[in-house]
Amino acid sequence: MPKLPADVRPTEDFPGLRVKGGTRYTTSQGDYLCGGCGAEDHANGDTDAKTLVQDYTDNHGPAHRKGR
Ligand SMILES: [Zn+2]
Repeated sequence: MPKLPADVRPTEDFPGLRVKGGTRYTTSQGDYLCGGCGAEDHANGDTDAKTLVQDYTDNHGPAHRKGR
């Protein structure tokens, strides 16, 4: 799955995971829209974004191709 540009949110046409790292002025943000099951989630903050990435990696996206 191609990696999305940092400023583009995943859509139904281009599902995937997007994470934008935080700076000293902004917090990390993350979004995913799963191409496998259509689930989507959003995160704000470093901890949230990490959890979101873990959730997507474990339960969505590539995980659907492992027979789940
Ligand atoms: Zn999914």
